[in-house]
Amino acid sequence: MTARNGGAYLERLRTHSPELWVGSEKIVDVVGHPATAGAAAEIARLYDLQFEDGNEDMLFEPADGDGPVGVQFLEPRSREDLEQRHAMHKKWADSTLGMMGRTTDFVSAMLMAWNANADFFGDNADKVRDYFRHVRDNDLFLSHAIADPPVDRSKPASRQPDPYTYLGVKEQTAEGLIVSGAKMLATAAPYSDEILVWPFSLRKFAPEEKPYAIAFAIPTDAPGVRLICREPFGGGNAFDQPLSSRFDEMDAVVVFDDVLVPWDRVFINQDYERVNRIWEINSNAFTGAQTSVRLMAKLQFVAGLAKRATEVVKTDQFPQVRDALGEISTYIELTRAAILASEAGATPNQDGVLFPDLRPLYAIRNSGNRWYPRVREILQQILAGGLLYQPADVSAFDSPIASDLAKFYRGPDNSSVERISVFKVAADLAVSAFGGRHELYERFYAGDPMFLRINTQFNQYDWTEPLGLIDGLLATSAEHARTAGSAEPDRTDGGAAA
Ligand SMILES: Cc1cc2nc3c(=O)[nH]c(=O)nc-3n(C[C@H](O)[C@H](O)[C@H](O)COP(=O)(O)OP(=O)(O)OC[C@H]3O[C@@H](n4cnc5c(N)ncnc54)[C@H](O)[C@@H]3O)c2cc1C
Repeated sequence: MTARNGGAYLERLRTHSPELWVGSEKIVDVVGHPATAGAAAEIARLYDLQFEDGNEDMLFEPADGDGPVGVQFLEPRSREDLEQRHAMHKKWADSTLGMMGRTTDFVSAMLMAWNANADFFGDNADKVRDYFRHVRDNDLFLSHAIADPPVDRSKPASRQPDPYTYLGVKEQTAEGLIVSGAKMLATAAPYSDEILVWPFSLRKFAPEEKPYAIAFAIPTDAPGVRLICREPFGGGNAFDQPLSSRFDEMDAVVVFDDVLVPWDRVFINQDYERVNRIWEINSNAFTGAQTSVRLMAKLQFVAGLAKRATEVVKTDQFPQVRDALGEISTYIELTRAAILASEAGATPNQDGVLFPDLRPLYAIRNSGNRWYPRVREILQQILAGGLLYQPADVSAFDSPIASDLAKFYRGPDNSSVERISVFKVAADLAVSAFGGRHELYERFYAGDPMFLRINTQFNQYDWTEPLGLIDGLLATSAEHARTAGSAEPDRTDGGAAA
């Protein structure tokens, strides 16, 4: 009942394989199947990191636990705790080059906030606390499924073609809720032990949406839970697909086919008013820290890749290439600054748990979804046709065209193998299907970019200071006008144009 290593993670995944569909194939061994094996091994590596020499700060002893557990579950009560969480996120993000957005420290950050503000759940508060301890002490991998399937976006849940298109409650039994319907794009669900489910909607829930106003946790291998995967990008070799062969975290639609959710895992039961207030938990303060640290790692990786690739072909001497690389490093430093500002401005909740300042984290969420597509565009602009200047696969090095490769695919200071291996990485990010999915991910993982920005930077934004400045100017201009004896209109006439 303490932190686990990669072997224990893989063993549990092997023995609790979810019902996973890739096309018509039912994958029964997530750990061994070529499409999923690479990412499963990478996730196992994250668990192993917790036990590596020098990484002692990735574990801590909770006062109410039986031994060391992962720092992803640490409720921060001091600046040092926040920094320890930050360092943990960064180690995991660096290990996956920022290519896995939903490593389990994302949903555990969410659940940790739920635990810290468990009173929000009213009568179910203790269930949330128990569940948090269960996940922490078993070091479980969680994914989350919150978005609804895009069947008819013009209508709310209750008016979809079938009442159980969107996930809703069908029945209440002595054992728990029977739920049916689907949730979209649970990233990393095939690799997870359990799924945290709650509703995420652009619409406010009305009383008739009650059956859909539910939050619960369910093991990924629970009877009736089916995962339908998108096209896998894994399965290739590490030379030709250096990123997609290892870091395809997979996205899956989760189908709930009359699934029993036991009462002890039901956190919100058909309570639409509570669902409409779910933001009060403030879990974005912690998920925002994870996503910002992960974005920083990804931007650093892309910057390093772009620098190395342009050095190889000596385009790094051109000013527009340097300017473009400088644009990426600017985004890195803005992200770093926002993370530090969020820690410096952290405030305690009623129980002394320090919540990072959301404002800089929201600013990064609302920028990262626009920066990343731009960064991918920069890769295409500065590496240009070089992204496709590659043999189809590694077998070419051992073929009659090997001498062509040696001559035409080299750089001035690099062999053809060295040059091609760098550009294969770049191509995997800039032009492959895996790379396209990454762009989509960064645009949308936190929700629709336009509504996200309206909600966080306009509706919820504290306009006091900006308005204070304009109002201050207007007040002093009146005074200046009086002192200078210049004309000043009567400000009390309501501004009527008459
Ligand atoms: C790679 C990837 C990974 C993801 N991972 C997860 C995950 O792990 N868990 C999870 O739960 N979800 C995940 N998602 C889903 C993500 O939360 C949604 O993509 C996001 O919230 C946007 O919703 P949508 O894709 O359904 O777009 P839609 O809501 O269908 O929007 C499509 C377009 O229609 C517009 N639109 C839609 N509704 C309205 C409206 N009411 N009024 C005005 N305009 C509207 C939008 O502005 C947008 O331009 C993932 C998505 C991607 C792409």
